[in-house]
Amino acid sequence: MIDRSDPRRADDSFVDAARHAAESCYVVYAGSDALLAPSLPIAPASVPECVVAKLGVDTADSVFLGLLDGVAWFAIDVAGLPEEARAPLLGFGRFVALGPIQDPIDGEAWSLLAQARALLAWNARTQYCSACGAPTEMRDAGYVRACPSPACGVLHFPRTDPAVIVRVTHEDRCLLARQPAYRPGLRSIVAGFVEPGESLEDAVRREVKEEVGLDLATLSYVGSQPWPFPTSLMVGFVAESVGDEIRVDGREIESAEWMTRDAVRRETQSGALVLASAKSIARRLIDDWLNADEDLGAAPPNQG
Ligand SMILES: [Zn+2]
Repeated sequence: MIDRSDPRRADDSFVDAARHAAESCYVVYAGSDALLAPSLPIAPASVPECVVAKLGVDTADSVFLGLLDGVAWFAIDVAGLPEEARAPLLGFGRFVALGPIQDPIDGEAWSLLAQARALLAWNARTQYCSACGAPTEMRDAGYVRACPSPACGVLHFPRTDPAVIVRVTHEDRCLLARQPAYRPGLRSIVAGFVEPGESLEDAVRREVKEEVGLDLATLSYVGSQPWPFPTSLMVGFVAESVGDEIRVDGREIESAEWMTRDAVRRETQSGALVLASAKSIARRLIDDWLNADEDLGAAPPNQG
């Protein structure tokens, strides 16, 4: 796990030296596409400083990710470079859009990719002060953008946008719903952004009620996952609904149905049903439910 080294971010002499140190490594993005290492498991390519220094990008725009085994890691966006100038990077991996990846990704690698993407995207989108319009300046190696106007001086901090995702079950069935924008066959569990003034639990109950018309009898937190598109955090829950009468909103959700484990297995095998990618917390929540009956079957005999 990377040591984010919070206290070192504000140390300009450390950050400047590390940006140009031969042993430092860079995670590279071109806009929303990450440079991924050529081998599995999926991980960001580790590009040495000497390669980045010759690309023609300003490393002062790089953001500090932290220290990994004593080595400083930064992230930089090369989207502004012409394609031919990026060619030296292709010896380290290839640029890949993260969204379509179907394979599972190790949590640490995913976290590093998400940290880099979120910080680069936020810095790119916070070039001007949202309070007064003055151009902002990067501070703390990319974790602060400061408004230099004496009349304003607002400090801007990176944002994380929480979204909730919930597996709703009713007895032995799980609710799977389809949004109009989904690729063919894909059905998944209910998700939505948290609105200002809401608790996470309120957001889950509101989204489920709005999208499929169900009230929840039980609700519990399971875990969370950074979701770098570009700055979200998916917060995962499981819930049991009070009843089973579905009313789809027809707007965010075009169809929804209760499915048994057997039906999910049958339809995924035939290709009629496509589940969320293996890298997602959505898939983890669905797989946990799918495997729960096998877990019961495999339970050790009662020792009493
Ligand atoms: Zn300002």
